[in-house]
Amino acid sequence: MIRKETKPESLAEFATDESGIVQARDVEAVCFPESEQEICELFAEANETSTLVTTSGAGTGLNGGRVAIHGGLVLATQELRAPQPRELPAIEAEQFGKQYVIYLDQERLEAHVPAGVSTELLDQMLPEGLLYPPDPTEKSGFIGANIACNASGSRTFHYGASRHWVLGLRVVLPTGDIIDISRGDCTADSELRFASQSGREYAIPLPSYQMPAGKNAAGLYARPGMDLVDLFVGSEGILGVISEVRLKLTERPDNILGEIAFFPSEAEALGFIDDLRTAAAGAMTVLSIEYFDSNSLGFMEHEVLAGKDYGAAVYTEVVGTLDELDPLIAALDANNYAADWFAEGGEEAAEQKGFRHSLPDEVHSYLRRHNSQAWTTDFAVPAEKFPEMLQAYHAAGVALREKFPREGKHYLVFGHIGDYHLHVEFIAHTEDELRLARQLYADLARQAIAWGGTVSAEHGVGKKTLTVNGRTIPYLELMYGKQAVMEIARAKQVLDPNLILNVGNMVPKQYLQEMAAN
Ligand SMILES: Cc1cc2nc3c(=O)[nH]c(=O)nc-3n(C[C@H](O)[C@H](O)[C@H](O)COP(=O)(O)OP(=O)(O)OC[C@H]3O[C@@H](n4cnc5c(N)ncnc54)[C@H](O)[C@@H]3O)c2cc1C
Repeated sequence: MIRKETKPESLAEFATDESGIVQARDVEAVCFPESEQEICELFAEANETSTLVTTSGAGTGLNGGRVAIHGGLVLATQELRAPQPRELPAIEAEQFGKQYVIYLDQERLEAHVPAGVSTELLDQMLPEGLLYPPDPTEKSGFIGANIACNASGSRTFHYGASRHWVLGLRVVLPTGDIIDISRGDCTADSELRFASQSGREYAIPLPSYQMPAGKNAAGLYARPGMDLVDLFVGSEGILGVISEVRLKLTERPDNILGEIAFFPSEAEALGFIDDLRTAAAGAMTVLSIEYFDSNSLGFMEHEVLAGKDYGAAVYTEVVGTLDELDPLIAALDANNYAADWFAEGGEEAAEQKGFRHSLPDEVHSYLRRHNSQAWTTDFAVPAEKFPEMLQAYHAAGVALREKFPREGKHYLVFGHIGDYHLHVEFIAHTEDELRLARQLYADLARQAIAWGGTVSAEHGVGKKTLTVNGRTIPYLELMYGKQAVMEIARAKQVLDPNLILNVGNMVPKQYLQEMAAN
């Protein structure tokens, strides 16, 4: 029988996610299914009693996606086990005091992984020479959630987002049907037609909007000829519960070299990045290009920064030997670098990763100390619009600072510059500052869209809303219009006729009710 927790302290653990933007209300219980069968039973009961169900991973999401704002049941995925033993070598490990098993097909470079395994644990479970390349900064997130959000990370520059590494999925649909799908099984014409294991047939109409060409995690994937697997990757849990993923692996490069270069100014750092791109287009394998503006460096603590006042820094990982670094050295020299920190793998490389990953932690602890709030963008734009977008980011941050002069930082700009995807984090010490930050954010979102970009390149849209001209609308409406949001709602309804699962993600409840009423 499925384990259910109703104690206030258990419910409190699932009351929000890392973003804190929304809070759960009227949750009846948190359920911990261990098998697909238990999820099916939960859905049967929920459909019968019209109870909403919200799926949760580790809660590191940044859009309120796992938060049950309309009440009902929370379906926690951390205890889900592999659906069936496979005739493949099993690797076991412990997480939350429980044993987890993944199955490995070393010849085909494939792993079958239950949804509740964290990316950190997966990395530890894989044999040393193998790599699951998507590299989100937050390692405690679960693989099921990573796929549900099409997570990406610094190495997406070279390896692509999670989507590229998903070969197949097992999904429990809200109808209680199970599907086991592989790439190539089902591709779309105007619909995606497929049957579940029980033989029930489904036909999902494809949404008609055109997705941005670049990095994107906003809305259901929709493209002519698309694969059914891609519909579920990045679907933010509105179509079903991913119970197991079949991942493609690659051989782990054994000579990843890390370089963090510090520059007197942003312009010089941008010149270095341009040269790195040219090197990457040539013979050099560049895995990542990450950026820190001077405000970001102001939050970070490390001996390399002690007593220094750099204008910007760039972190890059390249694959090669010391003899193959000429393009990197030439790029440094050509752009007047002030200092650098080079790592030839091992502990030093891990320390550099720690340095990169320490930024969000440092900012969060600053926010807690100052009892202040942050409002962070996740926009990406096409390459040709990136210089203007970066200017717009700084102009917005400066506008906040000039309107509310005070001690401390008002904003920072950092992240995945290799993919033209920087995060601007506005820091608000008061409600008035927050109001302006949100307005500046909405203006930037419109600008990113107007330039062919996305409102979410990696975090997904979840339950995020924007206030535009006094109207509060879901993120996707700003990007694609309301008709597109309703198309997503109709696709959802095919798999979730009673509209019980992950209500509020991508499509607000009110829109689902509008659709149901017509
Ligand atoms: C410091 C920090 C850094 C981060 N860096 C990155 C980054 O570099 N790249 C990035 O992409 N994200 C990043 N994130 C965001 C977050 O870690 C990812 O979105 C991650 O995928 C969420 O995983 P989770 O297990 O915590 O999911 P949760 O927050 O619990 O849930 C996320 C969403 O997935 C759905 N979901 C969960 N499990 C399933 C399932 N089995 N089936 C269907 N739907 C499911 C939930 O309903 C919810 O909508 C960062 C977050 C933090 C706090």
